Amino acid sequence: MNIQFYNTLTNRLEPFEPLEPPKVLMYTCGPTVYDFSHIGNFKTFLFADVFRRFLQLTGYHVHQVMNITDVGHMTDDDVADATGEDKMATATMRVREAKKAGTLPDDAIGDPDDPYQIARYYTDAFLEDARALGIQVAYEYPENMPHATQHIDAMHSMIRALLDNGHAYVADDGVVYFSVQSFPEYGTLSGNSLDNLIEGSGGRVLSEHQAHKKHPADFFLWKPDEHHIMKWDSPWGPGYPGWHIECSAMSMKLLGRKVLDIHTGGEDNIFPHHECEIAQSCCATGNPQFARLWMHPRFLLVEGKKMSKSKGTFYTPADVYEGKVTGRPVHPSVLRFELIKTHYRTQTNFTQKGILDSANTVRRFNEFTQKVAGEADNEPAEIDNTHPVLKDFTEALADDLNMSVALAVVHAWLGQDLPDPHEALAVSKAIDSVLGITSQNGTADNTDLEAICNQIDKARSEKDYDTADRLRDELIEQGYEIRTTPEGTVAQKKLA
Ligand code: AMP
Ligand code: ZN
Repeated sequence: MNIQFYNTLTNRLEPFEPLEPPKVLMYTCGPTVYDFSHIGNFKTFLFADVFRRFLQLTGYHVHQVMNITDVGHMTDDDVADATGEDKMATATMRVREAKKAGTLPDDAIGDPDDPYQIARYYTDAFLEDARALGIQVAYEYPENMPHATQHIDAMHSMIRALLDNGHAYVADDGVVYFSVQSFPEYGTLSGNSLDNLIEGSGGRVLSEHQAHKKHPADFFLWKPDEHHIMKWDSPWGPGYPGWHIECSAMSMKLLGRKVLDIHTGGEDNIFPHHECEIAQSCCATGNPQFARLWMHPRFLLVEGKKMSKSKGTFYTPADVYEGKVTGRPVHPSVLRFELIKTHYRTQTNFTQKGILDSANTVRRFNEFTQKVAGEADNEPAEIDNTHPVLKDFTEALADDLNMSVALAVVHAWLGQDLPDPHEALAVSKAIDSVLGITSQNGTADNTDLEAICNQIDKARSEKDYDTADRLRDELIEQGYEIRTTPEGTVAQKKLA
């Protein structure tokens, strides 16, 4: 089977050729833990998860590392030298406000002035969400999900190497900068040149601190700051690392090789984050390559627009589960499916209708799997990827993860008459090892609220009020509010 993916670095489809097959080393830029991750963030993380699961289905052994950014992400990080404040340091105010507004429980973060408590709280929230959504690497915490704050030494070593070999310098203001002019390839990933970075890009790399730098696009590796809320001793004074150096240092340290097979992140990571990662990694190691394949899924839109808090279209997974989008509770497997069902290089539009369609597909797939599992006494036949359905499914995904074609294969198969339940069960398990929409292969087996609400409605329509009342009472006991609406029963988690 020919496997090819689109490489942002070369702007074309390329055959997939890991350095040491079947091993695949994959690094995914992870969450910043100063707030809850939203469904857009999860779309990007789910892309990496589906990609990893597909490679596993085709026989690769994937070692994926995804970092937790608990320091260094700056308030103005879309400029190369990331001015502004460390976002973890600015979270304090927001946490206080959230507590006052009741969007964070009172006992959530005992001391909002302690950035480690803030990071701990949002890391736990992230892991819970990511596991419910079936993101495999979240089950490998902490081994494969390192906190940036626990790898400051590795960052120091890299900075020292860059200073020693002339790719970095200490400026008059004491800040350690990477010198972009020392790396002629700077700009290759994002299609920028040093000249257009100065003149164009709406002044994105220009900053008021330019005076200290050799080139306006130079970005900081270490910023000494005695008064900073999170700081570490260093040869360049107590301070904190730049965001980009975290990923370079942690990826090579944890994956154990200087050249990675795959590096992923959202499209806004291309510049400056990944451009800077390439520059400092190649210059520190002396290798012309850092990651061979760079993949960047497009952003998620909500009802056709950027997510916006003021327009009420900014959703966390919990918002979706509680029915803020559809008016009905949504199971994590439905959200997962909704976020993975389109091609990763098209902008996905998250809509109420989309969620309802996804709920139908997930229900159909689950009911089918349960039915054949029962008929086959849970014993799948032995098959491999040469099975005609799996062949079509994997070939679609082998073509730059073409999910729409892969799902068309699944839908066509579900519509067929399938005489052998053992074989059908094996096919469904293999498909679901990538989709991850049944609890056995992915999403957390949370209370399937929608299914229970449907059961209540069904019992009522059959005048089986004992069952309806029992199911309703069980939900109430678990902390849900139950309403009867013209569309049927709705259960919603009581908000604090
Ligand atoms: P952050 O926690 O802000 O570092 O973001 C985590 C990941 O989510 C990054 O890879 C971003 O590129 C990605 N991201 C941010 N906003 C969106 C969005 N609306 N849709 C998809 N991915 C996003
Ligand atoms: Zn990163």
